Amino acid sequence: MKNFDVAIIGGGPGGYVAAIRAAKSGLSVALVEGRDLGGTCLNRGCIPSKTLLKHAEVINQIKEAKTYGITINDFSFSIEEMVNRKNQDIKQLRNGIKGLLRQNKITHFNGFGTVFSNKKVVIESEDSKEEIQAKNIILANGSKPFVPGIPGLEHIEYHTSDTIFDITEVPERLVIMGGGVIGLEIACVFNSLGTSVEIVEMADRVIPSEDPDASAFLTKQLVAKGISIYTGAKVTGFKKDSRTIVELEKQGEKVLLETDSVLISVGREPNLKGFNELGVAFDGRFVKVDQNMRTSLDGIYAIGDLIGGFQLAHAASEEGIHAVNHILGKPNKKDLSMPRCVYTFPEIASVGLTEEQARAKGYSVRTKKVDLAGNGKAIAAGENSGFMKIIADEKFGEILGVIMVGAHVTEMISQATSFIHLEGTVEEIESMIFPHPTVSEALFESAAAWMGKGIHYS
Ligand code: FAD
Repeated sequence: MKNFDVAIIGGGPGGYVAAIRAAKSGLSVALVEGRDLGGTCLNRGCIPSKTLLKHAEVINQIKEAKTYGITINDFSFSIEEMVNRKNQDIKQLRNGIKGLLRQNKITHFNGFGTVFSNKKVVIESEDSKEEIQAKNIILANGSKPFVPGIPGLEHIEYHTSDTIFDITEVPERLVIMGGGVIGLEIACVFNSLGTSVEIVEMADRVIPSEDPDASAFLTKQLVAKGISIYTGAKVTGFKKDSRTIVELEKQGEKVLLETDSVLISVGREPNLKGFNELGVAFDGRFVKVDQNMRTSLDGIYAIGDLIGGFQLAHAASEEGIHAVNHILGKPNKKDLSMPRCVYTFPEIASVGLTEEQARAKGYSVRTKKVDLAGNGKAIAAGENSGFMKIIADEKFGEILGVIMVGAHVTEMISQATSFIHLEGTVEEIESMIFPHPTVSEALFESAAAWMGKGIHYS
């Protein structure tokens, strides 16, 4: 039986990043992946959605070309070629991970791993079964779409994020159950492809976990693009007629939506396959860990979507590094500056605490929001709808949170993340020189305005 310092179950962004960090630190590493390297993120999540969002953006630009004095008389697109391009991107990135595993001498097992409390792992594939022994185990099994038991769902065909990116025909109509990040990104893709999209969200606003201003702004923009949004609405049933009927209840009223396709995107549940009899403690549906990613069992760690929390790829990777640090006896620094990105049109990017969280933590909070309507670069690009908002501690001006809404803000949030990571203040942003014209000047403007020193904003 082969022995390893650490065996990692799951080759998603949590597992493969932990594997590389452990191997680079001199540990012998086994990485066990039952499906495809890259996990949900590469194969069914981050990358497929962003590839198709790019296609949607190109279509939007073609449709808006007239605004820029460019006439495009006709255009067409092929969903098949789009899906093929998405698959090529995935293949390229997957090969990249394979190469990294090879370079770092990580033993990659292609099979499903079952973990035992003595840290033995049994790996099974279609044609083989083998056992390995490890000193430490990192569970990085990830998650899968949660599908609620709603009457009639069993009689209709529906998509989840696992299937929608491989669609072969663009639907005429799409009802999306769930107005969270995944649902909204997919809504933007299909809206641009010409599908009539309706979103049903149980909470009183879409992306309820994010800043209320950002949520309200995005809602307005999506509605202006023709997307219908039902908030405070609960899907109560599905029926199959000549078309699919989605029944919902909104403010005591029954509403029927007729559609030809449905996407269920109401959250994700952990993949428990391979360790459901291990006996680790749970916190609700997710595996319970401490700040070093230790489960209730000695030498067994858990990271990523399996432990709930942010359920983001970069969170999974960071947690993987935390687990490896602990195995190596290195301390882990507590960092609250987790950036969160929503790749809708317009994008939302945020980092640090929300206003509500900051107040709950006892901070005396002051915020400043500046809009992008007057930003030179944004106007030149024809992309000046959005805003930047700083949440700072009233007393010392420490930046607690930043929210950005607008085109390409997901590329700009790291600047704000640096300030929060280094416990920076509004004064420090204001004293920095921002190049002109850039959209990120709005960050400077919001810091300056927060201090009452705004040039273009008060
Ligand atoms: P996963 O990526 O789920 O990987 C777990 C892996 O473990 C899987 O490959 C699975 O096959 C394997 N596995 C499970 N059990 C076993 C077993 N017993 N033996 C062997 N292998 C096993 N996050 C972002 O940060 N940015 C985004 O833009 C973003 N967009 C998303 C869009 C969509 C549509 C979705 C669904 C998710 C998106 N996410 C995004 C979330 C992101 O994909 C996840 O947070 C991330 O993939 C979690 O990483 P992980 O390593 O914990 O698990």
